[in-house]
Amino acid sequence: MRNVLIIGSGCAGNTAAVYAARANLKPLVIMGRHAGGQLSLTTLVENFPGFPEGINGPDLVENMKKQAENFGAEYIHGDVVDTDLSRQPFRINVEGEWIETRSLIVASGASARWLGLENEQKLIGHGVSSCATCDGFFYRGKKIMVIGGGDSAMEEANFLTRFGSEVSLVHRRDQFRASKIMLDRARHNPKIKFLLNTVVEDISDPAEHLVKAVRLKNLATGVVWEQDVDGFFVAIGHIPNTAMFKGQIDTDADGYIISKGGAKTNIPGVFHAGDVQDRVYRQAITASAAGCMASIEAERFLESEGF
Ligand code: NAP
Repeated sequence: MRNVLIIGSGCAGNTAAVYAARANLKPLVIMGRHAGGQLSLTTLVENFPGFPEGINGPDLVENMKKQAENFGAEYIHGDVVDTDLSRQPFRINVEGEWIETRSLIVASGASARWLGLENEQKLIGHGVSSCATCDGFFYRGKKIMVIGGGDSAMEEANFLTRFGSEVSLVHRRDQFRASKIMLDRARHNPKIKFLLNTVVEDISDPAEHLVKAVRLKNLATGVVWEQDVDGFFVAIGHIPNTAMFKGQIDTDADGYIISKGGAKTNIPGVFHAGDVQDRVYRQAITASAAGCMASIEAERFLESEGF
């Protein structure tokens, strides 16, 4: 029987673990299929306060994990495949093994949606990115491409014009999901060139471990061409990792946890932290802050229940 079980080992889960461990609650962290969360997919993180020279994303999450372990947090590999949150203690199924816990912190994150191209995964961190705020800075004076037709794509394209010599925005249709104001802002930005009814067929060059060019296809005309690109930003949405709580924790239509204030979910004793609930900020620092909040709330919950 656990006092605190934390699902997820990104910034939110690790920070929750530091706080819960320091409160002597001996938290157990289920690391998940993508241990380390989204930071483990990035390179240099320059906007996490306290690191004037920046720090590598994987190092940052590993440091957080070590910090939590120093205070007694335990980590296990594995993926949560099922949960029973209908009564106390909550039951969490980690790849076939049920674990019981009195409180639960859900920090399972949201995964960036990718295009599914052959070379896309190979080039993540080497020119392919899903986060303009994180990686835009590396493309000063370079050619940038953004994929998507929603608010994220417009926001990222606008943001990236601060760095890139040019920004091409590639969208598979000529209609947009983006709000009018975000779309207008992008349309009026002279550095953004729209490539509509266009899809990316492939990215090169994995042999050089660097994005150098993409092959594009205009769906209306069938014309296929190559374009030189240095930074390739995929902004086609995120998928919150909440499938294992379906019908138990309240989520919105897209699967993001609905907060009941602070870090509370609709189930007393179950708390949210990080991108699994946050579709707006999605930063390492905001996820860490949310992990801290969830841990403090879990601690207060356990105390109020007399555990
Ligand atoms: P989104 O609104 O779902 O848009 C995703 C875009 O990606 C769509 O244009 C979609 O094309 C395209 N897409 C999806 N799968 C694709 C694929 N396999 N290949 C090519 N294109 C693909 O996602 P989002 O832009 O991340 O926004 C999510 C939510 O956050 C929205 O509610 C948005 O308003 C909000 N948001 C708000 C702000 C802000 O207000 N500052 C900023 C960012 C996000 P189709 O249109 O053809 O389906």
